[in-house]
Parts: sequence; C-alpha cells; structure tokens
Amino acid sequence: MADEADVASEIADHWVSMRVGGLLQSVNTVSDNTHCEDCGDEIPAARRKAAPWATLCLTCQEIQEKASMQYRR
Ligand SMILES: [Zn+2]
Repeated sequence: MADEADVASEIADHWVSMRVGGLLQSVNTVSDNTHCEDCGDEIPAARRKAAPWATLCLTCQEIQEKASMQYRR
C-alpha cells in the first residue's frame, strides 16, 4: 500500500525546488503565471484556480480571443 503522505511530501519537495529555481531565474521578469504576460497585472487567485494554465488576465484574454477571431476571416 502506498503511503500517501510520503508521496505528497516527495511531490512537494520537487515542486519547491522547481519553484525556487524558477524564481531565481526570473527575479526581474514577469514570466510566472501569477501575472498577466501581456499587461503585467496580477492574475486574480480565483482565476488562476479556475484556469491554472492561464497566462493572461481576463481582459487581455478577451482581447486576444477577439483578435484571433478577426484573423481567421
Ligand atoms: Zn492583462
């Protein structure tokens, strides 16, 4: 039987080391998805939870969606 706590702490350790490495690499950039890639505004925690893959705030996402729709015509 797998020990869930052990697995969880292994994942947490891995995540922390990746997170720390990422932070060290991007100290002066806004490349993590806590901030919008486009305008640099903080992406609300609720949005990040609902859409963890989102790299844009809702406003920029809507602008991009509209723009890509227009490109298809
Ligand atoms: Zn934005």
